[in-house]
Amino acid sequence: WVYDGAVIEARIRSLAAFDAVRYAQKANSNLAVLALVRRAGAVVDAVSAGEIARALAAGFAPRDVTFTADLFDTAALAWIGRHDVPVNVGSPDMLAQYASRHPGRGVTLRVNPGFGHGHAPQVNTGGETSKHGIWHADLPDVVAHARQLGAPVTGLHVHIGSGSDFDHLTRTCAAMEGFAAIVGPELESISAGGGLPIPYRDGEAPFDVERFTRAWLDTRDRIGRAIGRAPRVEVEPGRYLVAESGV
Ligand SMILES: *Cc1c(COP(=O)(O)O)cnc(C)c1O
Repeated sequence: WVYDGAVIEARIRSLAAFDAVRYAQKANSNLAVLALVRRAGAVVDAVSAGEIARALAAGFAPRDVTFTADLFDTAALAWIGRHDVPVNVGSPDMLAQYASRHPGRGVTLRVNPGFGHGHAPQVNTGGETSKHGIWHADLPDVVAHARQLGAPVTGLHVHIGSGSDFDHLTRTCAAMEGFAAIVGPELESISAGGGLPIPYRDGEAPFDVERFTRAWLDTRDRIGRAIGRAPRVEVEPGRYLVAESGV
């Protein structure tokens, strides 16, 4: 495989209106690709101890890595403890575990909005059949519990699947507004997740990245008006950044 760095850089630039582009490295965790993504100004997501190790080996600062998962294993806890890697919590148990080990540290919460969408069922990561994220109806209790544990909820994250369409995007943005109202003004960031599609066949139109971006910037602004401060808005693409670069 040969990867064209200019394609990856152009995809990152196409998302420059977001406050951060966070690369979901399961799309390609080659160390040279990760280092190129870092030099192009993006930050990175990690879903395992191995992905944290790869991100740090590629030169990312620990604060530019986010660990997203629904549970901790021993190895991931060790990396997070040693390097102070921020955590995106996907379950109530994980929140309690993190708060007891790292008192006072803020967390972001991955929320399952109750629906998902993917270009195939295997890549749908929302809804009743998905293991991922805190169930939307549980969010008020989990936010209250986080406060009791002294772990401020500084961010909210949704990732409903790979292969976005604009109907689901509208629903996801509306859901995020509701979640932000539950957290209130301590909210510093929202994440749109990934799932941005790429054309697979001749004649397929490229993804309308401007429309996607506008929907999320508008969501950020509406949240800002509702809670009194506009959060930063992140996007978390994997495949969109790299899939068209490989030969
Ligand atoms: C896979 C994944 C993504 C990115 O999905 P793509 O379809 O590659 O854009 C984003 N966030 C998380 C947590 C993921 O697991």
